[in-house]
Amino acid sequence: MNHLTADFRSDTVTRPTEGMLRAMASAPVGDDVLGDDPTVQRLEAVLAERFGMEAGLFCPSGTMTNQIAVKVHTRPGDELICSKLAHVYNYEGGGLAFNSGVQVRVGGDDYGRLTADDADALLQPMDNVHAAPTRLIVAENTSNKGGGTTLGLASLRELGAFARTHRLGYHLDGARLFNALVADRESPEDYGPLFDSISICLSKGLGAPVGSVLLGSAAFIAEARRIRKRLGGGMRQAGYLAAAGLYALDHHVDRLAEDHARAASLAAFIQQLDFVAEIKPAATNMVLFRLVEDADAAALLAHLKASGIRLIAMDRHWLRAVLHYDVGEPELNRLRSALARWTA
Ligand SMILES: *Cc1c(COP(=O)(O)O)cnc(C)c1O
Repeated sequence: MNHLTADFRSDTVTRPTEGMLRAMASAPVGDDVLGDDPTVQRLEAVLAERFGMEAGLFCPSGTMTNQIAVKVHTRPGDELICSKLAHVYNYEGGGLAFNSGVQVRVGGDDYGRLTADDADALLQPMDNVHAAPTRLIVAENTSNKGGGTTLGLASLRELGAFARTHRLGYHLDGARLFNALVADRESPEDYGPLFDSISICLSKGLGAPVGSVLLGSAAFIAEARRIRKRLGGGMRQAGYLAAAGLYALDHHVDRLAEDHARAASLAAFIQQLDFVAEIKPAATNMVLFRLVEDADAAALLAHLKASGIRLIAMDRHWLRAVLHYDVGEPELNRLRSALARWTA
């Protein structure tokens, strides 16, 4: 791939800006496994404080922060409840079974939303020895496979009240939580008190090259730190990477609104193409659309690739275009005209 490619596959493809690289190069570092990397500690403290939680843990990926959280919240043989579209269930390589030995019970709608009523229908009867004990609810905001849907604080609070009533853990996969905060004009400090743990990716729309942070209580994060080490996720002079995250939090949050506006505009364009059968509402930075029955998704991807444009297939029917800071108006125009040139 070269710099002329307009890469809409994911917001993970962003490369660090000059300012970010400068911040990384000048970061004070130490050995984070020995507990003395000041930049990692600052990133963990800044995010914990912003969300009103006690502590944070810097990890190599959002898969690891989610997997560690599930491991701390559960014991083998337990069950967790999540959306049928959840990343932890669909896209983490069977990690829930591999790492934690838990079962999953899924529900909710086609946009990644899971209500308290949905969870109630999935809850196991705790006094029945035939059933796996339900221990945890995982919510995902925004929902990736749902099309970047935001769940909204009101619904998340109802689900949280349900979790508390039934003494379940409540984890948020907030890989793109900042997209939700910007789109719904929500405050991070409303999120901390609601959840037992929150995972946040710095390597998606925020534009850092690597890294996610897990937030929770001091005791939760102490246990999570032990599991991170076990999984091989302890990194040494990780401050160089944490510096990119700190830079992103200062410079790349407000601009997410530009990605959202471009996604909405792209969705309006895609909606009226005659080879498109269905499109999910573009609430944040992605556009998921399904082609009509006789259109060949692989052929469309090849046509776009020949024009230096890349999209991703979610499955055999659904395609995804994601907006991020490395695709602006010129790239969006190229995508629009390449789509307009195609006939199914
Ligand atoms: C990307 C993503 C993750 C974590 O992915 P990594 O590539 O492991 O960092 C987790 N949850 C959701 C919803 C995601 O989109």
